[in-house]
Amino acid sequence: MVKSKVKIGVLALQGDFAEHISVLDNLNVNCTIVKKPNELSDINGLIIPGGESTTIKKLIDRYDFEGEIKEKVSLGMSVWGTCAGLICIAKKLTEPEPIPMNLINAEVSRNWFGRQVDSFESDINFSGIEEKIKAVFIRAPIVNKVSKNVEVLSKLNDGTIVGIKENKILGTSFHPEISGSTKVHEYFVNLTKE
Ligand code: GLN
Repeated sequence: MVKSKVKIGVLALQGDFAEHISVLDNLNVNCTIVKKPNELSDINGLIIPGGESTTIKKLIDRYDFEGEIKEKVSLGMSVWGTCAGLICIAKKLTEPEPIPMNLINAEVSRNWFGRQVDSFESDINFSGIEEKIKAVFIRAPIVNKVSKNVEVLSKLNDGTIVGIKENKILGTSFHPEISGSTKVHEYFVNLTKE
C-alpha cells in the first residue's frame, strides 16, 4: 500500500475516471476528479483515462485544458495517459484525429487490434514492476515509434510497444484500472513523488 502526500487528479471529462479513483482510494492515495482547468492547481499528477479519445480531446479543447496542463507539466506535474489518454498525450498519431497534445515523444496508432469484440487480456512485463501484470486491452492503441529519450516499459510478446515513459510522462495502451492489480498506479504515484 502506498501512503502518500502527493495528490493525484483524474481528468473526468469522459471515460473510465471513476475506476481510477477507486484504485487510488484503495491505495489510500489522496485523489480528486478534475473537471475544470483551475482544479489542476493543487495536484501533483494527472491521469487521463480511457474512453473515446476524440471526445476527450474535444472537451480538453472546449474547456481550455491544454495550456494549463502544459504549464503544470513544465512545473513538474506528472501525467499518465491510459488508452484514449495515451492517444491524447502522444506527439503524433497515424490518424488525422484527434490532434494530440504532444506531451511524450511518441507516435501512436489508434484501434490497433480491431474492434470492441477484439478486446483481450494479456499478462505482460512492465519495467520497474517485478511481477507480471494483467493488462486489459479494449480497442487499444499501440506505440509505433518512440524517440530515444522515451523509455519502453512494456511490450507484448510480438514486440508491440504498449507502455512508455519520458521523464514524468507515462503512457499505457491498456487499462490497469480494471485489471484488479494496483501495481501501475503505485508506479505512477512513485513517479509523481520523484
Ligand atoms: N479506441 C479508443 C479511441 O481511439 C480508445 C479505447 C479506450 O480508451 N479503451 O479513443
